[in-house]
Amino acid sequence: MQPHPWQAPQWRQLIAAKQADRLHHALLLDGAQGLGKRDFAEAFAAALLCAAPDEEGVACGKCKGCLLFKAGTHPDLHLIAPEEAGKDILVAPIREHVQRAGLSSQLGGYKVTLIDPADAMNLSAANSLLKNLEEPVSWTVMLLISAHPSRMLATIRSRCQRLQFAPPSPELALEWLQRQGVVDGRLLLGMAGGAPLRALALNDDGVLAMRREALSDFLGLLEGRGDAVEIAGRWEKHDLERLFYWMSGWLIDILGLSSGGARSPANPDMVERFTALAARLDGRALFSLLDKVHEGRRGLRGSLNPRLLLEDLLLAVVQCAKVSGGNR
Ligand SMILES: [Zn+2]
Repeated sequence: MQPHPWQAPQWRQLIAAKQADRLHHALLLDGAQGLGKRDFAEAFAAALLCAAPDEEGVACGKCKGCLLFKAGTHPDLHLIAPEEAGKDILVAPIREHVQRAGLSSQLGGYKVTLIDPADAMNLSAANSLLKNLEEPVSWTVMLLISAHPSRMLATIRSRCQRLQFAPPSPELALEWLQRQGVVDGRLLLGMAGGAPLRALALNDDGVLAMRREALSDFLGLLEGRGDAVEIAGRWEKHDLERLFYWMSGWLIDILGLSSGGARSPANPDMVERFTALAARLDGRALFSLLDKVHEGRRGLRGSLNPRLLLEDLLLAVVQCAKVSGGNR
């Protein structure tokens, strides 16, 4: 179990600290969703529990510790997560962790606790953990994972050593995606904000096919073709939050091209068609359409009827095309 190629600096830092016996008892793995922080934490936990890691510090995969780790039954590894995705981490599992922290390890090595996502701890869970952080126990390492550390108690953050993860270079990410069998890596990576695991998840979700269809509908309307109400009917079953996010990205790209900006487009595959639209469409109409998309995204989170929101927006796209037609 190895860290991802773009995590080599963080890995070397921790392995060096471990070898020098200077490992901090609480590590906060911080960075956007989709960068593989959880994979990194598991690889490092495995390395801590392994009896014979290799020269890069990676777990051997064969010793008793590794076999227990792989089976998910290592007695010195404790995983804490919400019972349901999106819910809070409650105080009970944290208390259990605190109790175990006082006991010695079962296999005679490290004890590792992984909390993911750490920002999901509710206040009493966080307070319970805080007491534990104030009295570190040797040979006990806590790995806290969070894409939103600002949501955690400042007193917890300040007691952790922070390990920051940033999106890798596009070359490194693309190479990795290719090795996972992803064909449209560049496009997916753009959609995933540079986060390789997010790009991979999008690939698995068949999101590109959905984007192709939605883009063709959307550009059709901007070019004066298609039926907004019929399209709203088809789009309704999709992830609307995602569709609105895309539309905003498409419009921002078109607007960027119409002002001749140097900004690199988020949709590199569409530059030609977007440029043609940028030349044709009225800039002000495009801006107000973009406003409407943002308004719609906010509306989705509220109690507005999504179908009506969608129809309203797509009719505004038709309107944008008409206004621009009149200006020609
Ligand atoms: Zn091992």
